[in-house]
Amino acid sequence: MELVNNVICPFCGTLCDDIICKVENEEIVGTYNACRIGHSKFVHAEGAMRYTKPLLRKNGEFVEISYDEAIEKAAQILVDAKRPVMYGWSCTDCASQEVGMELAEEVRAVIDNTASVCHGPSLLAVHDTGYPVCTLGEVKNRADVVVYWGCNPFHAHPRHIARHSYARGFFRERGRPDRTMIVVDPRNSDTAKLADIHLQLEYNKDYELVDAMRSALKGHDILYDEVAGIPREQIIGAVEALKKAQFGILFFGMGITHSLGKHRNIDTAIMMTQELNQFAKWTLIPMRGHYNVNGFNQVCTWESGYPFCVDFATGEPRYNPGETGTNDLLQNKEADAMMVIASDPGAHFPQRALQTMIEIPLISIEPHRTPTTELADLIIPPAIVGMEAEGTAYRMDGVPLRMKKVVESDLLTDNQILTKILERAQELEASK
Ligand code: SF4
Repeated sequence: MELVNNVICPFCGTLCDDIICKVENEEIVGTYNACRIGHSKFVHAEGAMRYTKPLLRKNGEFVEISYDEAIEKAAQILVDAKRPVMYGWSCTDCASQEVGMELAEEVRAVIDNTASVCHGPSLLAVHDTGYPVCTLGEVKNRADVVVYWGCNPFHAHPRHIARHSYARGFFRERGRPDRTMIVVDPRNSDTAKLADIHLQLEYNKDYELVDAMRSALKGHDILYDEVAGIPREQIIGAVEALKKAQFGILFFGMGITHSLGKHRNIDTAIMMTQELNQFAKWTLIPMRGHYNVNGFNQVCTWESGYPFCVDFATGEPRYNPGETGTNDLLQNKEADAMMVIASDPGAHFPQRALQTMIEIPLISIEPHRTPTTELADLIIPPAIVGMEAEGTAYRMDGVPLRMKKVVESDLLTDNQILTKILERAQELEASK
């Protein structure tokens, strides 16, 4: 058995970089340091749910085809469509995302990633108010007040707290005892149970709570006995804890980005972070889910000027979330073909969007059987990035990390598949 050190976990946006993989006969059979979900991804790559050949649906049944046939078919679907959508991109590497951008421009598609249904509101808020950010390394070494708002890393990012928020750091030698942890969550989640202060607000009242905290921060009275179900004194106590920080960090998740107010919640949370800098160093980081969801937003921005929901229909990039989001196009029955890569909208999109996905040609570039592949007309299986192919991913704090190839695979990588589809699409467009 061989041990491969310093492997980066290709599961969540924490991108833990200290994983050790046990490899036997070109298969990962075990891990050290990974959490349960990361470990599960590494050791369950193979098995009955793994596709090893491209599949095309014929008369309701999947039949095996060659990669060449699958690439021809995919290029044909995208070139023939008037309003193709290319969605996903969050579980693949940046170089593949870059090829995807070129392909979207070539076939005049809408290209969009999973941020559309998770941290999209955060991206909109960043346009309005900026982004006072730091790295997870700074959190580990400096942060003495840590806020988790609308997220439950204990389960969604299981090593996040231990590696960054509770860890012993350069200026926080004792780790947990040197830090105050505040959790804002309507539920008494497992993360909330670890907190020094739990602000258990009412559902959908995040905006009101941030607003009251900003009032207290500016020295104004809070006019009500309670706001968002939290007594005035508790709010003032929490604000005092924020003001006393030497280095504070606000981690926020979909509990605030998708509660009532959406990107306006993040607007006001960013403004609170900026205002806190009058008292202490304060920064914020969104808790990104898929391991390279951030990478797509970076690649898409440097290629088109916009982070997601980019529409190339006119040949120029256009951006209007609410109109050019994947769900908007599917639910309005505008899209007439779809390519899904590195994500599973079949498991997460609303029924109305899924109905359109059933009705239009659907390509799925996906290693495993998922609810999306169940709806697909064409399935193209890739090697898994971070395990069977190397590539770059952006951690939730915007730090790019190079992921390793741990084992060999006979399958084409996402990058190779997309490059071949792009080349064929260019030929088809030229012959039109
Ligand atoms: S916390 Fe995330 S990146 Fe780290 S091992 Fe677990 S799943 Fe992987």
